Amino acid sequence: MPLQPVSRRHDRPAPACFSADITGHVLLNTLYERAVAKGVKIYPEWFVTSLCIEEGQCHGVVALDIRTGELIPVRAKATFFGTGGYGRVYQHSTNALINTGSGIGMAYAAGAPLKDMEFVQFHPTCLIGTSILMTEACRGEGGYLFNNQGERFMQRYVPTAMELAPRDIVSRCIQTEINEGRGFDHPLGKYIQLDLRHLGGKKIIERLPGIRNICIDFIGIDPIIEPIPIMPCQHYSMGGIDVDKRCASDIRGFYAGGECSCVSVHGGNRLGGNSLLDTIVFGKLAAQAIAEDLEGGGALPDEKPLLKLKDEVEQKLGRLATPGRGKAYRIQAELGTVLDEKVGIFRTRKEMEQALQKIAGLKEEYRNVGVSSTARHMNFELINALELEYMLEVAHTITLGALLREESRGAHFRTDFKTRNDRDWLKHTIAKIGPNGEPVISFKDVTITRYQPMERKY
Ligand SMILES: Cc1cc2nc3c(=O)[nH]c(=O)nc-3n(C[C@H](O)[C@H](O)[C@H](O)COP(=O)(O)OP(=O)(O)OC[C@H]3O[C@@H](n4cnc5c(N)ncnc54)[C@H](O)[C@@H]3O)c2cc1C
Repeated sequence: MPLQPVSRRHDRPAPACFSADITGHVLLNTLYERAVAKGVKIYPEWFVTSLCIEEGQCHGVVALDIRTGELIPVRAKATFFGTGGYGRVYQHSTNALINTGSGIGMAYAAGAPLKDMEFVQFHPTCLIGTSILMTEACRGEGGYLFNNQGERFMQRYVPTAMELAPRDIVSRCIQTEINEGRGFDHPLGKYIQLDLRHLGGKKIIERLPGIRNICIDFIGIDPIIEPIPIMPCQHYSMGGIDVDKRCASDIRGFYAGGECSCVSVHGGNRLGGNSLLDTIVFGKLAAQAIAEDLEGGGALPDEKPLLKLKDEVEQKLGRLATPGRGKAYRIQAELGTVLDEKVGIFRTRKEMEQALQKIAGLKEEYRNVGVSSTARHMNFELINALELEYMLEVAHTITLGALLREESRGAHFRTDFKTRNDRDWLKHTIAKIGPNGEPVISFKDVTITRYQPMERKY
């Protein structure tokens, strides 16, 4: 299915594109095909375990060849991370299983600063029990939200925009309905109904074919006949590796773009469709910046720090490959639950302090993690254990940033500080790993150019 530009005005370039309700798949395949056609060398079976930074210079990465179990140091004049968001640190997330935030965590562990980690977006409509995204197109096409009283409850919260209010607002409305007992019961949790039936079979089949298939395949519900049971889930990471508008970090030779980075174009809340900006626009700007910075060639960085790092990763793998110790998947499940429950859509000081305590305990438990098989090749339990170390760091920075930010802004909502406070909080949080391994938060001014911050309409 071809990609179609979306623009209401024909004299303007299209700010987004779509392909029925499978835009992501179409983008992914197009990108991959173009990369193959252009002869880009792809290592689909390599997992990057660590980033090498020494004295403000990036030297490259250490990667594990999943097929052979071999560790490979990759020395580079320029290293670019496009490693995606950290959604999987939450238990309920629409993100792919690979979105553990390992790239963000390893950049942080190597000394790169992270920006605005507390800004986490929750999507209002995710399929119960699976967290699969029921795309915005469902409400865009005219879907209704109902509580267990048969009420289109958005009428009470945002009568002007109803179901088309911004994601964070609809998420909070749904969560309020659930918290106040107006949700439906399901063995896998409480839910709200997303009703498409009035759109009619023809429109649903034509405009929302992917959604219909997912509902039938995963929970045996045909949205032409029954409402879809949904709940809000983590969806997007606004925070990430601190980079400028060229996607350059303040580490020489280290760049990041896409969801793992934070240029801050999305502020505290990304609009739907704007990842195309992250990936396409900033992907190109990053490539231009790297080409400029490497103009005239330049020497490869020293190999020694990279070889030292490879030895350290060898030792880590040795430690992890000790059967019979704690299990990574148990710690990951507990981490996901604590973030869902205490650093979720609604946040309070008390709960986030509890979350920090829990994360500290899980970090301690992680020191005893071991995998069942000592084999290094095709060992996904080993990779999960490597990822978990970074997930714990990412979760720590999210929680600490959210605790310190005593206001509500964008997707970050504090029930103990319900309003936006530009006087004290129109600033970025910057998390850096401190000398004792704990995150240290500092602040950075927000750069405002043409558009001034506006008061929210809803
Ligand atoms: C269900 C869903 C629907 C969405 N729909 C839209 C939409 O309609 N419009 C829109 O604009 N945005 C949408 N988004 C958001 C958008 O898809 C993402 O923001 C975007 O795909 C991020 O792209 P990326 O290239 O930065 O990262 P990703 O696409 O997540 O890619 C990261 C890559 O890095 C690899 N990687 C990660 N860690 C490592 C490691 N340690 N070693 C080696 N490789 C690693 C991963 O395997 C992956 O291939 C959606 C998101 C979801 C989850």
